[in-house]
Amino acid sequence: MIFIRKLFLWTLLLSGFSLSASALDIEGSLVQGGFAYGKVAPGSTVWLDNKPIYVGEEGDFVLGFGRDHPAQSRLSISSPTTNSMETHTLDIADRDFDIERVNGLPPKTVSPPPEWAARRKLETGRVAKGRAAVSTDTFWKTGFIKPAKGRFSGFYGSQRILNGKPRSPHYGLDIAGPIGTPIYAPAGGKVTLAAPDFLLEGGIVIIDHGYGVSSTLFHMDTVTVSEGQIIEQGDPIGTIGEKGRASGPHVDWRLNWRSVRLDPALVIGLEGATSGTS
Ligand SMILES: [Zn+2]
Repeated sequence: MIFIRKLFLWTLLLSGFSLSASALDIEGSLVQGGFAYGKVAPGSTVWLDNKPIYVGEEGDFVLGFGRDHPAQSRLSISSPTTNSMETHTLDIADRDFDIERVNGLPPKTVSPPPEWAARRKLETGRVAKGRAAVSTDTFWKTGFIKPAKGRFSGFYGSQRILNGKPRSPHYGLDIAGPIGTPIYAPAGGKVTLAAPDFLLEGGIVIIDHGYGVSSTLFHMDTVTVSEGQIIEQGDPIGTIGEKGRASGPHVDWRLNWRSVRLDPALVIGLEGATSGTS
């Protein structure tokens, strides 16, 4: 529960929001990359920016905001008892992310060879499928723990411009450590993908924490869980490696709410960690 308080306080500081009025109760980070959750009367329907979102039996729901989320979101709630619709405007705080320009790289690191395309297509399909579940599990409610010992070596949202070409931003939190360092589940859930060696990700595990929230961990040297397995927070899932496209041994932890990429640093209380490379 420390996690909840920390995030809540931080959000208050950052965006000064208070939404405890009426039936709405939201905690978490109303910020780009932020994870938040709330509660409404059971049986309510909730829309974020006009898209329906999953509401559990007890009225709890999860929200996530992407790296480039605009300044506001609209949360609409339809209550079954009053038969009324209420709409709240959420202010989503803006963040600055590191942009790094790297020139003079050999061309190979900029554009992958064509024979990768077919294999990549299969792999990205499996990743998308692994993150697609919106299950009724509530593993996300425990909060999250840092999945490995080690130093943070890369942060969410940073972007590199290689030989003048902007690459897609880095969406993970990198933790560097020696090859073989154990990796633990940041929260419990069902393993929806476990593969030993993807082209870019190396050893990869996806854990579905419920309500569309998932963790993806990659560059793993060994993967010791299998698809379909239910694991608890802190269970070992494999070890740190440098497989795939990795410069040095580390684990890259991604946090998703459905297809929205969130900042893992925020859910473990690393407040405002945005420096791209260390
Ligand atoms: Zn990374």
